[in-house]
Amino acid sequence: LANRAFHPEDSIIDVSGVKVGGDHLALIAGPCSVESKEQVIAIAREAKAAGANMLRGGAFKPRTSPYAFQGMGTAGLDILVAAKKETGLPIVSELMSADYIDEFNEKVDLVQIGARNMQNFDLLKEVGKRCTKPILLKRGLSATYEEWIMSAEYIMASGNPNVILCERGIRTFESYTRNTLDLQAIPVIKRLTHLPIIIDPSHAGGKWWLVEPMAKAAVAAGCDGLMIEVHNDPEHALCDGPQSLKPQKYTELLRQIKGIGEIV
Ligand code: PEP
Ligand code: MN
Repeated sequence: LANRAFHPEDSIIDVSGVKVGGDHLALIAGPCSVESKEQVIAIAREAKAAGANMLRGGAFKPRTSPYAFQGMGTAGLDILVAAKKETGLPIVSELMSADYIDEFNEKVDLVQIGARNMQNFDLLKEVGKRCTKPILLKRGLSATYEEWIMSAEYIMASGNPNVILCERGIRTFESYTRNTLDLQAIPVIKRLTHLPIIIDPSHAGGKWWLVEPMAKAAVAAGCDGLMIEVHNDPEHALCDGPQSLKPQKYTELLRQIKGIGEIV
């Protein structure tokens, strides 16, 4: 179903009125995790002023350590809904358990399946069957293109055709950066599938100063969007502060990117 051979045109996915794919660039910004209403609304306002067209924020966080902040859960989703009311930006948030699908259908506009759940096949099937919103499927930490595309196929074969892929860096021998951004994923995914592909340079590099050059490279390589972590106080962020841009840096980045790709 994802195969380009049977669907030669690029798919354009509608996320609550924001189109992704074709000539439309998804510009998703926001904190790694929802920490408070004040935090999310402040960041959402600045992201919108910068030119972002969707707001991200994790309410359910897949943390490596069980002792790390696990996210605000349902209360976090309600904060995102409040930020959407304030700014009009559609909401992107990660779903970790099928138990919350009904709630996500009600509150979230683009449902993220994280890298660690890319091959959680039961979750993929449930999301395909029951999610009424488009899905943002992140590439697994060590997943091949074939494995990643097959995971999209699980969602599509289960009944949800609206899948956007997200490259977020893969594990390599290099340990200086958090992961290694695989820019080749853009032309490869476009050749093999008709699905939009967006790039997450924040989790790829793990360092805020790598975000700008990698975001520019991704737009130059023809990606359909960027998901970037933006935090108003990265030094005190509960999650992923070192890779988060301050709103001012994000604003500058979007200004520069407008000269590289078309922002519609
Ligand atoms: C995230 O987007 O906050 C996240 C946890 O990403 P990933 O699943 O790619 O690690
Ligand atoms: Mn994060």
